[in-house]
Amino acid sequence: MKIALVISLLFAANAFAHAATPSAHWTYEGKAGPEHWGELSTDFHTCHTGKFQSPVDIRHTIDGHLPPLNLEFHTAAKTLVNNGHTIQVNVDDEDDFRLDGEDFHLMQYHFHTPSENQIAGKSYPLEAHFVHQSDKGDLAVVAVMFEPGAENPALNAILTALPQQENQSVTLNKTMDFRALFPADFHYYRFSGSLTTPPCTEGLRWLVMKQPVQLSQSQLAQFQKALKSSNNRPLQPLNGRMIVE
Ligand SMILES: [Zn+2]
Repeated sequence: MKIALVISLLFAANAFAHAATPSAHWTYEGKAGPEHWGELSTDFHTCHTGKFQSPVDIRHTIDGHLPPLNLEFHTAAKTLVNNGHTIQVNVDDEDDFRLDGEDFHLMQYHFHTPSENQIAGKSYPLEAHFVHQSDKGDLAVVAVMFEPGAENPALNAILTALPQQENQSVTLNKTMDFRALFPADFHYYRFSGSLTTPPCTEGLRWLVMKQPVQLSQSQLAQFQKALKSSNNRPLQPLNGRMIVE
């Protein structure tokens, strides 16, 4: 009797641990693709049940006369990772901006091809996400769209060091001038959204720069080769959210 109870508790605990693992395998297509993310782990439910999910198509915006983003650049890159989902640069510095009375610090930036967000139905070949966190733990993502054009010098520092194998990480430990990853004009669209990957956590502040920057076809091809497949979550409904500019 006692043994049976212990065994059933063990099973229950194990089943829970398995279902709750935050590292459940997920992908961008097939059985573990975006339409199934919510079923892959109890931690991923928000991917299905959330009402303020990202990415979105930016349209019907409200003119809130938002001032340009006051972003400071001092980026020291730490590691460059190809984690199988994205190409990510982890940083360790004080790049920041102030929003809603809080300081947001850059943690990492990574890339999606094609773009996840769209602007008035327009998809871009590449989108960079600069993920910032405040001391309170709030997240703000600054997104930049890339369009085909001239070679972008700031991307070369990443592309020349790019790990071709999944889960490879290389140490950068140098200062990267990533000013060229941002447009000249710092005006942006702002809305509330979520992580675009599991667990799809909501409450993120999204700031999408209005003006795209350029990258060459060759640079785009190098990202596509390293990522092997598209890594953009499909568009999510706005469900009444307002987009302010
Ligand atoms: Zn992203």
